Amino acid sequence: MVEIKKHTLAIIGAGPSGITAAIYATRAGYKVDIYESSIPGGKVNYTATIENYPGFLSISGPELAMHFGQQLERENVQFLNEEVLEITRENDVFFLRLEDQKIGYHAVIVATGTKERELEATHIEKFMHRGVSYCAVCDGPLYKNKDVIVVGGGNAALEEAIFLSSFCHVTLIHRRDAWRADEILTQKLASLPITIYMHHRVVALYGEKQLEQVEIEDVNTKKRQLLTCSCVFPYIGAHANTTFLSSLHIVDEKGYVVADASCKTDIPGLFVAGDVRTKELRQIVTATSDGAEAGMNAAQYMRQNDF
Ligand code: NAP
Repeated sequence: MVEIKKHTLAIIGAGPSGITAAIYATRAGYKVDIYESSIPGGKVNYTATIENYPGFLSISGPELAMHFGQQLERENVQFLNEEVLEITRENDVFFLRLEDQKIGYHAVIVATGTKERELEATHIEKFMHRGVSYCAVCDGPLYKNKDVIVVGGGNAALEEAIFLSSFCHVTLIHRRDAWRADEILTQKLASLPITIYMHHRVVALYGEKQLEQVEIEDVNTKKRQLLTCSCVFPYIGAHANTTFLSSLHIVDEKGYVVADASCKTDIPGLFVAGDVRTKELRQIVTATSDGAEAGMNAAQYMRQNDF
């Protein structure tokens, strides 16, 4: 017999949007079970410095994530360190399949965010954790005073290149002639001793056990060259974490959950918040905004239906 929880909301994902949704829903009088396979704070944990979240002139990602986690504790939210493998729906109940059980809820907020897109290059698997890292904050300090390469032209690539340049020799590789990142970051980049290769791509990685060299190619001329490099940090975008929602048919062609700023999906009782939602601007502040909307709307839905 599967348990169906009354007066309790399930939130999947404990990044800024999920945590904010939990705060608003508990303060509206509901119990919250928040499912997270990693630690509270989501991607914020892997961001070096945040300067565009109001209230903090400058704060490290792990410190902001710690504040988020503390607030979750204060609200008595039930933190469940488990991965939700699938959601199915029968009548007005959503069943969350976990590794060894199923639990039913009347309202669910999906706040699962995005996962880094992986770089494709010859021998890339060989150097995972031995010269390829998707977390500059975690692994950057291992390469102090060494040559490292950051790949990408968006906000994440420029932010992490700027962070790494304070203690590494950084080369930035971008496939186009124009940045995708915000003007403030491109200006800061220009003031730093970072070597930049525009319209280039990474084609292959070489080394004995650890990464030693990276081959890059000019996308226009196809001319190739080898660069000395101890670690590559790809920041080439992300894709939505939504495979567990496949039976609900609520994602767009890119895999994002379709909803407007109300955070209501087409399915009553199912809400979405943060980077995983279809939207233009993916920021911590827009994630927390979504969390407030989703938390309040989910609480209202439970109240109206007496769940
Ligand atoms: P993004 O904005 O999608 O940028 C991805 C970058 O990687 C683009 O420059 C793209 O090139 C390049 N790229 C994509 N596929 C590639 C491939 N296969 N090989 C080489 N390069 C490739 O992703 P993001 O920087 O991770 O940011 C994700 C979201 O979070 C964005 O909405 C961003 O604004 C937000 N964010 C904000 C901040 C901030 O405001 N401080 C910080 C981090 C992230 P093209 O430009 O040619 O497409």
